[in-house]
Amino acid sequence: LNNMPDPALGQKILARLPSLAEKASRRLGRPPVLMEVCGTHTMAIAKSGMRSLLAGHLELRSGPGCPVCVTDQGDIDKMIALAGRPEVTIATFGDMLRVPGTDSSLEVERARGARVEIFYAPADAVEFAAGSPEKEIVFLGVGFETTIPAVALSLELAVAQGLRNYSVLSSHKLVPPVMKALLSDPELKIDGFILPGHVCAVTGRQAFEFISGEYHIPAVITGFEPLDLLASVCLLLNQIADGRPETVNGYTRLVREEGNKKARAIMEKYFEPADALWRGFGLVPQSGLALKKEYSLYDAAARFPLQVPASRPLIGCACGDILKGKLTSPQCPLFAKSCTPLNPVGPCMVSSEGACAAYYQYEWAA
Ligand code: SF4
Repeated sequence: LNNMPDPALGQKILARLPSLAEKASRRLGRPPVLMEVCGTHTMAIAKSGMRSLLAGHLELRSGPGCPVCVTDQGDIDKMIALAGRPEVTIATFGDMLRVPGTDSSLEVERARGARVEIFYAPADAVEFAAGSPEKEIVFLGVGFETTIPAVALSLELAVAQGLRNYSVLSSHKLVPPVMKALLSDPELKIDGFILPGHVCAVTGRQAFEFISGEYHIPAVITGFEPLDLLASVCLLLNQIADGRPETVNGYTRLVREEGNKKARAIMEKYFEPADALWRGFGLVPQSGLALKKEYSLYDAAARFPLQVPASRPLIGCACGDILKGKLTSPQCPLFAKSCTPLNPVGPCMVSSEGACAAYYQYEWAA
């Protein structure tokens, strides 16, 4: 708490938590289970020690909030296969490098001679493409509403410059549809959602209204300071205790009711909704984005058709169940044994937003 911008306020919130949790537990007949739906929240929770601070009062679980982790195994295999084409240079965020495919990874393929370049921003990949006209640069589009506008902007730049050697392999994902898939699971035992502040900054609060409106579960859009998280937990417990679920904007310093219209406009200019496969969830209708037909020149899936053998699941890896909130990382039999950040078996141990990596780094004591 001493690392918070306002430790006194943190103490105040924390002092209220036990009684609120008790009231919520009385209504539920068991301690509440809350889910964070954002990899950055997963890391913030682990780093701040919140889970152990709140243990005994409530349980915190991770959801499908890490874009690298939710990318389907078959899509990872396609990216790796694309890296094997001699004319292609893969451009990617660094997190994708070590994600294990069925038989290889981008890192392994790079060591074997494939061209894989790391970029922090998609626009940098466009600049690289402009300076390397002899190369085919394929940007791996992995991310949620937070990242997609930046990828769309890279397409805008490529189109404006008339580049013919820049394309995007879109594995983008939309958060509201997967939340609907999660909420439709009859086995789901989540009593409240900590919603992703950055995603909501683009979508707006209203895009998540259905959580309380249709499914009658409380939800709070949350910022990324420990104080934001504690305040959201309080708001969720209050709603559970009162039996009045709402979708509350707890991050008003960034999130507007209608979101960021400019960001959505550029997304909608280049992409359209498409069915997508998610790790752990399978096919989720209209939960992904494909490039629009008129931009097929920039669509790597259209330009470089691939025949990839059927992917095999990662043996023993429980990432799918962790992403659905059915298991926590230490419940995976491989956690911290055969699966560690140095030797990751699944993506949740690779990604800087992965639940297993967060647990291992901050909450697990050997
Ligand atoms: Fe998969 Fe490793 Fe996490 Fe287990 S600990 S779920 S094997 S990433």
